[in-house]
Parts: sequence; structure tokens; C-alpha cells
Amino acid sequence: MIPRKLFSPEHEEFRASFRRFLEKEVIPHHEAWEERGYVDREVWQKAGAHGFLCPSMPEQYGGAGADRLYSMVMMEETAKARTTGLGFSLHSEIVAPYILKYGSEEQKANYLPRMARGEIIGAIAMSEPGVGSDLQSVKTSAVKDGEGCYRVNGAKTFITNGWNADLVITVAKTNPALGAKGTSLILVERGMPGFERGKRLKKLGLKAQDTSELFFDNVKVPEATCSAPRARASST
Ligand SMILES: Cc1cc2nc3c(=O)[nH]c(=O)nc-3n(C[C@H](O)[C@H](O)[C@H](O)COP(=O)(O)OP(=O)(O)OC[C@H]3O[C@@H](n4cnc5c(N)ncnc54)[C@H](O)[C@@H]3O)c2cc1C
Repeated sequence: MIPRKLFSPEHEEFRASFRRFLEKEVIPHHEAWEERGYVDREVWQKAGAHGFLCPSMPEQYGGAGADRLYSMVMMEETAKARTTGLGFSLHSEIVAPYILKYGSEEQKANYLPRMARGEIIGAIAMSEPGVGSDLQSVKTSAVKDGEGCYRVNGAKTFITNGWNADLVITVAKTNPALGAKGTSLILVERGMPGFERGKRLKKLGLKAQDTSELFFDNVKVPEATCSAPRARASST
């Protein structure tokens, strides 16, 4: 096999450290997690304490300001150890970057350090029953109530980390007439009245990953916690 030149000695050191973490904190529990359908929340906090969450976030938001190859290393080792129940990469490399790119300073300071510590778990909810990959057909709506809040209604399905999630970036139509420009990202938090988890979906693989249904029944979300870029949010 041709040796790879992609990773530096520092990446390989990190790889060894993550492998030790998997051996100690994940592999012994993974079978039980697969039977149950979700991982312990504690493993997220332990991963955060070791610097395995949000490594590419800037240091001011709790990350290490590292390059994306560190996340690649974790993905490789997770697959090699068959510990695919961990939803770390979605949390660190999809959810956190959305907040970093589109969030206000207040949102970044509020959510990102807690995500890096594993205190809150992130998810992103795009797919819906009957909609699949066609995001133009999203039915979930977020309508301003005139009192500084959006009211979110709809349902999502196949959401990774959905069962454990504390923060869900939710794709919703804020102005159906504007097509993509009237589609926004709403930050819904665990515990908001009307936000419920449905069932965890049984899958052929990734059995310990909590891929779930989510339901939104008139969930009241303050406009300040909407993650849409200001121009887009105010045009609706
Ligand atoms: C394990 C798992 C985790 C997931 N996690 C998340 C998550 O965290 N968040 C989330 O929002 N979603 C998530 N999903 C949902 C996933 O993104 C959807 O499965 C995906 O959007 C496809 O939707 P669908 O299965 O309904 O297929 P469809 O959209 O119905 O597509 C079926 C097939 O038709 C093809 N197709 C669709 N439209 C066209 C077109 N216009 N032209 C040509 N071909 C087309 C597609 O490529 C596909 O092969 C997850 C799914 C799984 C299985």
C-alpha cells in the first residue's frame, strides 16, 4: 500500500489519542448502545473534555482552531472501530459551522463553547416525511406572531442526533412566496413547549445512532434566536 502523505505527525498523535478514547469510553458500551438505539450523553461530555468536539472552531468559541483533517482522523477511527453510533462529525462539522457562519455574535458565544464541551448536542433538521431531499417542498413553517417570536409548525424525519439533541437547526419556510429566499434556519432548543421527539428509527446500520422523528406544534421561538442571516430574516 502506498503510504499516505495527507496527515502530519501531529494528526497521527491525535489519532492515537482518539483511538485510546474509543477503546476506553466507547467500544465497551457500543453493543449495548446499538441494542438501545442511542449513545449515553456522558460520552459527549467526555469527548468534549478531551477536545474531540468542534476541533475546527476558533479558540474564542471553545474549539482548537484546528484544520478539518483532525475531524477526518476521527471519522476514520470511528469507522475502523465500528463505533458508528457517535454523531460527533455532524455536530462538529455541520451544525457548529452553520452557527459560526450565520449566527450572531451572541448566538456564537452562547452555543459554540457549550457544543465544544459536549454540554449541548447539535442536530440539523431538513428532511421531512414525504419531502426527502427536495428542500423546496419543505412544509415546516415559521410565522412571525407580531410579538417578537416565530411560531414553528411541522414535522421532520431521519434526524441524526435527533433523540439526544439540545439544539436543532430547523429548516422552515418563513415566506413560501420567496422560494429559497423565504426559507430560514430556526434554532429550536430542547424544552421549548410544543417541541417533541417522535420515535427513533430502526435502520440497517448505524444502529446506535439516534436517527429520529421530530415534531413542532406551534413552538414559540424568539426572533433573536433565529439563525437566518439578518437580511433574510428581516425580508420575511
Ligand atoms: C442514517 C440517516 C441519517 C440522516 N440524517 C439526517 C439529518 O441529520 N438531517 C436531515 O435533514 N436529514 C437526514 N437524513 C435524511 C437524508 O438526508 C434523506 O434520506 C435524503 O434527503 C434523501 O431523502 P429520501 O430518502 O426521501 O429520498 P428522495 O429525496 O425521495 O430521493 C430518492 C432518490 O431519488 C433521487 N432524486 C431525488 N430527486 C431527484 C431529482 N430531482 N432528479 C433526479 N433524482 C432525484 C435521489 O438522489 C435518490 O436516489 C438522514 C438519513 C439517513 C438514512
